Order: sequence, then C-alpha cells, then structure tokens
Amino acid sequence: MTGSGVLLSVENLTTEYRTAGGGVPAVQDVSFQVHRGEIFGLVGESGSGKSTVIRSIIGLLPKPAARITRGTVRLDGLDLISLDPREMRRIRGGRVAMVFQDPMTSLDPVLPIGDQIREGLRYHGITGRAAQARVLEVMSLVGIPDAPRRQRAYPFELSGGLRQRVAIAIALAASPQVLLADEPTTALDVTIQDQILKLLLSLKEQLGMSVLLVTHDLGVVAQTCQRVAVMYAGRLVEIGPVTTVFSAPAHPYTRGLLASLPGLATGRTRLRAIPGSPPDLGSLPSGCAFRTRCPIAIERCAEVVPPLEDHGTDHLTACLRHQELGQTDD
Ligand code: ATP
Ligand code: MG
Repeated sequence: MTGSGVLLSVENLTTEYRTAGGGVPAVQDVSFQVHRGEIFGLVGESGSGKSTVIRSIIGLLPKPAARITRGTVRLDGLDLISLDPREMRRIRGGRVAMVFQDPMTSLDPVLPIGDQIREGLRYHGITGRAAQARVLEVMSLVGIPDAPRRQRAYPFELSGGLRQRVAIAIALAASPQVLLADEPTTALDVTIQDQILKLLLSLKEQLGMSVLLVTHDLGVVAQTCQRVAVMYAGRLVEIGPVTTVFSAPAHPYTRGLLASLPGLATGRTRLRAIPGSPPDLGSLPSGCAFRTRCPIAIERCAEVVPPLEDHGTDHLTACLRHQELGQTDD
C-alpha cells in the first residue's frame, strides 16, 4: 500500500541554470511525496526537467551553472538541501542512492565490478570480510549469476543488462532507503528492459525500499509504478495513482500522452500525437505552459499559472478546465 507514510518530500522545488542567454527555469515549484515502499514515477518529455529534479534531490547539479532558488527536500524529515557537501556525500550512496541511464558512463572501466561495489561500502564504513560478504550478497540480490567468479570481471566483459545490474548493486550496497533511478532502462533493449523493471519491483518488495523512477515512457510507468507525476516544461501538471491517472487523466497533456500510446489508450485505436512541440524554457508563454498546444484552452489559461488542485482522492491536476475535461472527447 502507498499510505504507509511519506519518506521523501519535495516542496516547491525551483531550480534554474544560468546560461549566457539568461536563466533557464528548468524546474519550477515542484512538490511531490514519495511514500515508504512505493515506486513513484516521474514522467515527461525530453527537456521537461526530470533529471534536474533528481539531481537537485541528491545534490549532483552541475556547478556553478545550476542553482536551487527555492524549496525543500526532506528525507524522513532531514532537510537535504541545507546539508553541507560533506554531510551530503554521506547521505548519497548511503540513505539515498542513484542509478543512471547508461551504466557504461557510471561504471569505472578499469576496475573489476566487485571492487566497485566494495568501494562504495568502504565509504560507508564497511570493510574486510563484511564487505566481501556484502558484495556477493548484493550481486546475487540483483540476479548476477556466479558472483564469486563474476566479481572479478570488468564492465566491458558484461552485457548491457548485467552492467545495469552491477550499477543497481552498487546503489543498493549500503541499503538505501530511496533509490533514484534516472531512465535506468532507456539504453537497453526491450526484453532486458523488462527484466530490469521486474528486478526493481522485486527489490522494492524484498527490501521495502522506495524508488523514484524517472522515465519518458508511460508503458514503463504502467508496468512498474504505484503513483506517477507528469512533468511539462519544468512543472508538475498531474499527480496520482497510476490506475487513476491512466483510466481518467485529469490534464489535457496527460490525456494527449496516453492517446498517443498504442495499447494503453482507453478504447481508442487511432494514434494521435500532441500537436506542436514543448515550449522553449527561455521564453515560456504566460499562464499555463501547455496552453499553446491545448485543445481546450480558454483566455484565462494565458492569465494564471494553474495550481495543482484536488481532482479526487490522492489525485491532483494543474488545469483550470479539469472539471470540463471529463466531458469533452478531445
Ligand atoms: P531528458 O528526458 O532528455 O533526460 P529531462 O526531463 O531530464 O530530459 P533535464 O535534463 O532536467 O530534462 O533538463 C531540463 C532543462 O534544463 C532542459 O531545457 C535543458 O536544456 C536544461 N538544462 C539541463 N542541463 C543544463 C545545463 N547544464 N545548462 C543549461 N541548461 C541545462
Ligand atoms: Mg534526463
């Protein structure tokens, strides 16, 4: 169940990049909560700000370009944004760990994989025999067969799927409470992607850990997550239980995304892409950023940024017209 308490709480997170052309508001006023023991999906098109959210949480924003200008991130009550870099390093890889999209870039090519898992453990004070036992334990936890032998392998000797399992093993080594997974299956082919998602589900069950899963793929969300937040141009436009959001999307953007998904659209056979393209973050339209592509926009949508409002139990949407949405067929 998802009602067993909040573990990670993000409130009003606002992060910008400073560029020669001025500030880029990559994340604006983002608030959501990840419950204990759930997989929470963060979904949105490329450039919508998903990775910036994750990097803001774990203190891995590029310096000095990026700056958190507002908001809080609390892990079990502990404010992560106000931690000094040393304290943050202790939390990172310890209570919060991260898995990146492409394991080839996050793994060290010249170090055997067992040593890479061990290195993270050493940082968290686990060494010697305890570390060795833990290396074998997490390798088998993530389904790497023949761990005693395989721990001596180098990343290039492994398949893409096994490499991603190693990256997950490194992340899990110090038993984090939350795993932040940024597009962990995008670089993999479909069958391997499926295996990694099943692995995340089984780890969540076995370890009771929470996962914040970033993806641009609603199919992945349907397969893996309990709740989902939909991001558009740096803001959240809808949050809710996956079953509710998929069966009754309350934002026209989510509705458009679902309509263009073969097999998932409810009762629709026609594939429909959302017309237009996402706005340039440097020159966002006034009011709702989606209004220029929205089939049901009205004048007022240009005047105010719609706040996230209740649209039912545990279901929020940022659309002035969400009441009407249920009645239209567009
Ligand atoms: P993707 O699905 O492609 O990974 P994303 O949703 O993760 O996209 P982000 O990487 O968070 O998006 O980027 C959000 C916005 O911030 C984009 O418009 C991007 O161009 C901008 N951005 C990201 N990194 C930087 C940077 N270092 N300097 C300036 N702008 C940046
Ligand atoms: Mg990204």
